[in-house]
Amino acid sequence: MNANLYSLFASRFPKDRTCTLLETEDGSVYSYARLDAMAARFAGALASAGARPGDRVAAQVEKSPACLALYLGCLRGGFVYLPLNTAYQPAEIAYFLKDAEPTVFVCRPASVEALRPHVEAAGVRSVLTLDANGTGSLAQAAEAESSETPVAESGAGDLALIVYTSGTTGRSKGAMLTHGNLAVNGQALVETWGFTRRDVLLHQLPLFHVHGLFISTHCVLLSGARMLFHRKFDAELALEHLGRATVMMGVPTYYTRLLALPAFDRIATANVRLFVSGSAPLLLETFREFERRTGQRILERYGMSESGVITSNPLCAERRGGTVGMPLPGTEVRVANDRDEPVPAGEPGGVQIRGDCVFKGYWRMPEKTRDEFTTDGWFRTGDVGMFDQDGYLSIVGRAKDLIISGGYNVYPKEIEMEIDALPGVVESAVIGVPHADFGEAVTAVVVLAPGATLSEADTIAHLRARLANYKIPKSVHVVAELPRNAMGKVQKNVLRETFGRSA
Ligand code: AMP
Repeated sequence: MNANLYSLFASRFPKDRTCTLLETEDGSVYSYARLDAMAARFAGALASAGARPGDRVAAQVEKSPACLALYLGCLRGGFVYLPLNTAYQPAEIAYFLKDAEPTVFVCRPASVEALRPHVEAAGVRSVLTLDANGTGSLAQAAEAESSETPVAESGAGDLALIVYTSGTTGRSKGAMLTHGNLAVNGQALVETWGFTRRDVLLHQLPLFHVHGLFISTHCVLLSGARMLFHRKFDAELALEHLGRATVMMGVPTYYTRLLALPAFDRIATANVRLFVSGSAPLLLETFREFERRTGQRILERYGMSESGVITSNPLCAERRGGTVGMPLPGTEVRVANDRDEPVPAGEPGGVQIRGDCVFKGYWRMPEKTRDEFTTDGWFRTGDVGMFDQDGYLSIVGRAKDLIISGGYNVYPKEIEMEIDALPGVVESAVIGVPHADFGEAVTAVVVLAPGATLSEADTIAHLRARLANYKIPKSVHVVAELPRNAMGKVQKNVLRETFGRSA
């Protein structure tokens, strides 16, 4: 049997392929048949441009139905898709092209000139273009191709995608995901989140990251459902369309922005059966405020580029704020100490995972790959987590964000939760900055509500009554907002740089 993921999708498409797969914000409708034909033509055009199964096809293009068809076309042709953040500058693109050596690079027409020297230096064979409206030399070349280009024969272990991690330290690593990885994770999500043909997903996520590219779209493609497919996140637009959606997936920032709209309430969300949050921690306060305003609990899940979704709060049983739920079917999760031994519930440790959704390794980094797997085959996620007695996992932070002050391990989340509970505090980030005496000094960076004030002395005095001495911040800084990346993750490396310098 062909293990190409596209074959699995095609077997799950609605019998009547004139059914809508997606609808854009300007009302354009794309049926399953139309996207299928676009994917076939793109696969043909990429092959004509020189791509062979197993070759990489890199793309830095705006989100559009054509961009989704490009991804599907790569699956269909057996090419390895390499999505690139639209914010990357030419010097950053140069690294990815050199490292991944794609045969074809698809970019925005406006970037061709600036990228040409890098494309040539990396020996890329063909450059094609695609703009936000789905036009460009790729689309043009596709017109001459068949809408029935066959689906390439692929094994479950063949590469489907290389996703470069955002890499806040050192070189960005290309996580290699196989057709099998994606098939297993997508099917587990359809089951866990109860997707059916009746679902309509509001999709405002970017397509260059796993959340928008496959975690969300695969649920739709594997259940014959539909998407409201918008170019980018826009809270007002989301509110306007939620009445027609049954599921929304987003990063935590989407939900805080929606909550900032007074009209976001029970009535506006009545048609939605499921709100999913992931890619960054959801503040407990957002979880609670969301329930107060809509009567619904956001379902928080946890995942990463190297595996897709790992754990999820349950669809039907209790969704617990501040936790990311339980392992998905087929995925094992353990919390382990420095010797890779599992620790009991209630104790923090490194989150490790095992199962068919776990990636094949980092592209051309065999040593790095070996370092990240234990001798008994578990992948070290780099996150620190803790199970509770009922099996719900909480993510305490990234291992590299762990603070070691005076020889003690300090988990930033514990202190952030205390600070967030103070009146007038919107959110906080706790970091370690170099300190001559303690090694690292606990430092708090706080965002306040408009008009609110907070004194360093009062904050420290409050925390002293609640936390052990070594966890108390040595300084408290108030900022207008926390630096975040496109997926809403707080960039603690940026904060460490800013406040480390001033320390
Ligand atoms: P990425 O590979 O860009 O998707 O980033 C994966 C990382 O995002 C994980 O290793 C976690 O550190 C973080 N992450 C994803 N989902 C959550 C969540 N629900 N809560 C806390 N951290 C999360």
